[in-house]
Amino acid sequence: MTVLVSGASIAGLSVAHQLAARGHEVTVVERAPALRRAGSPIDVRGEALRVAAEMGILRRVHEERVVNSGRTLFTTFVDATGSPVAALPNAEASDSDGDIEIARDRLVDILHEAIGDRAEFVYGDSVTSVRQSRDGVEVAFASGAGRRFDLVIGADGIHSTVRRAVFGPEHEFRRHLGVYFSIVDLPTGSGVYGESLTYNSPGKMAGISDFGTRTLGFLAFRSPEVAYDHHSLDEQKRLIQDAFAAENGWRVGELLDAVREASDLYFDSVSQVHMPSWSSDRVVLVGDAAHAAALFSGRGTSLAMLGASLLGEELGAANRPADHAAAFTAYERRLRPHVERAQAGVPEARDLLVPSTAAELAARNSRFPLLAA
Ligand SMILES: Cc1cc2nc3c(=O)[nH]c(=O)nc-3n(C[C@H](O)[C@H](O)[C@H](O)COP(=O)(O)OP(=O)(O)OC[C@H]3O[C@@H](n4cnc5c(N)ncnc54)[C@H](O)[C@@H]3O)c2cc1C
Repeated sequence: MTVLVSGASIAGLSVAHQLAARGHEVTVVERAPALRRAGSPIDVRGEALRVAAEMGILRRVHEERVVNSGRTLFTTFVDATGSPVAALPNAEASDSDGDIEIARDRLVDILHEAIGDRAEFVYGDSVTSVRQSRDGVEVAFASGAGRRFDLVIGADGIHSTVRRAVFGPEHEFRRHLGVYFSIVDLPTGSGVYGESLTYNSPGKMAGISDFGTRTLGFLAFRSPEVAYDHHSLDEQKRLIQDAFAAENGWRVGELLDAVREASDLYFDSVSQVHMPSWSSDRVVLVGDAAHAAALFSGRGTSLAMLGASLLGEELGAANRPADHAAAFTAYERRLRPHVERAQAGVPEARDLLVPSTAAELAARNSRFPLLAA
């Protein structure tokens, strides 16, 4: 079958790999001019480790895991002067043994290399409309091109264009969890060397984590949903600066300088996506587009990889007749329990990392005293 995959991140690359390996003709379209490299290390956990093995990339993933993968401390909480006040053990943030933490861009590169030339990649373009008929899908692109595919897979993240074109407006499916989160590159080490430090004031979080080859700054803040252009770096920077304008504790000023100077950063609402169905005739969604569990779940990557594997398995080899409707139904039935589990734990993680009041912050710090860590 000819298959269009919209989005070349973890979900899109994983599903492209699964289908190309089974002999399908796969085209991947990515809005960005190249694979996107921003973001912090992410966890490959549980079932996703089995999927990585089945895709033949587990050894590479293991070799390239971050140096402090498996550390015992998730983060040390500091006060406005930088003195440690509490510490979150990793066991509180991770619930399965054998997790591998790997830089997001390295996982993207490993998946991309594993596909090789078995799929066509189109960068700097985006689906604008999708028209389904009995025997195919007519797709129009922002570049003006028009093409026909047997199936279309939306792997284009929480603000998915395919979801909007086929299932309805974003506000029907995406739930903002009251926090915006940003990640920015810092000079290597940045004084924390192999550690992770986090500072909170009510409704705000600032952190620095060193992963050996890369050091990242984190800024998060509580806020109701705000309207902004998701693709405008300048607007993203302005929202972060405005949110922290009155905050000068710890190293916040230094983090804001890094945001001001960044040529790329990650910024988004911490959101979940809840949909009654992930497919409509010849169009199906995978990864965050279908079921984002939110950044704090630590499971978005693993769910995307598992979903891609189940979808590939259900669609089967290109040389066998496929009933795509039955395949989409089975994929959804098998993945939903994993998604529901991942989505359920997120409000608690949010409240732990970004307490909204001084009382919640004090309670969190007494719950995780330095000695226990
Ligand atoms: C740059 C970046 C950094 C991230 N950093 C972190 C992190 O630090 N920690 C964390 O837990 N999660 C992070 N995430 C989210 C994480 O990758 C996902 O939760 C998870 O891996 C599932 O991935 P996904 O492929 O479904 O969605 P995403 O990773 O969000 O990927 C969606 C892809 O679709 C592309 N796209 C969007 N719209 C279109 C369109 N109209 N046409 C074509 N392509 C389109 C995007 O550019 C992106 O490449 C990040 C995502 C991105 C894009």
